[in-house]
Amino acid sequence: MTNNVYILLGSNQGDSKENLANACLFIKERIGLIQTKSSIYRTAAWGNTEQNPFLNQVLLVQTELKPMDCLNNLLQIETEMGRIRKEKWEPRVIDLDILFYNSEILNFENLIVPHPFIAQRRFTLIPLVEISPNYVHPKLNKTLLELLEICEDSLNVEKLP
Ligand code: ADP
Ligand code: MG
Repeated sequence: MTNNVYILLGSNQGDSKENLANACLFIKERIGLIQTKSSIYRTAAWGNTEQNPFLNQVLLVQTELKPMDCLNNLLQIETEMGRIRKEKWEPRVIDLDILFYNSEILNFENLIVPHPFIAQRRFTLIPLVEISPNYVHPKLNKTLLELLEICEDSLNVEKLP
């Protein structure tokens, strides 16, 4: 029984392109088959403008893992790739967030799905729309394309060649 999990990858420290590529290798090994990969997008850092810009990418992965096992594996990959958690908005080698898990709505203390900020962030919506424009957000009951059209975020999101 496989599940569809959408994962957002982000990096703004070190060689970000290489960090995204390495994260994909880990995900293939530990989470499951990568069915679709978005392009890589560059965005100015959110919250803290002193930081390097972020590179982001969204993956659609087929997994046999339950949501909490997915999260724990992703957090483990972050640690193995050298991420150290200190404060919010700090630079990060790699950030791995679960955006959607099938069409489930989950509210665990340490795992909220759909990820709470999807509709507010163009750097998340744009790669999502690239791979699944017609996916319906299970809480907002709008397609990803519709959410992008009404999103008020003004940060520039640039697709890398
Ligand atoms: P953020 O991604 O919000 O910038 P972190 O990567 O430091 O911050 O994550 C902090 C915590 O967020 C994680 O330890 C995890 O338990 C929790 N969390 C809650 N919902 C999710 C989700 N959908 N995907 C990933 N982490 C989540
Ligand atoms: Mg995170």
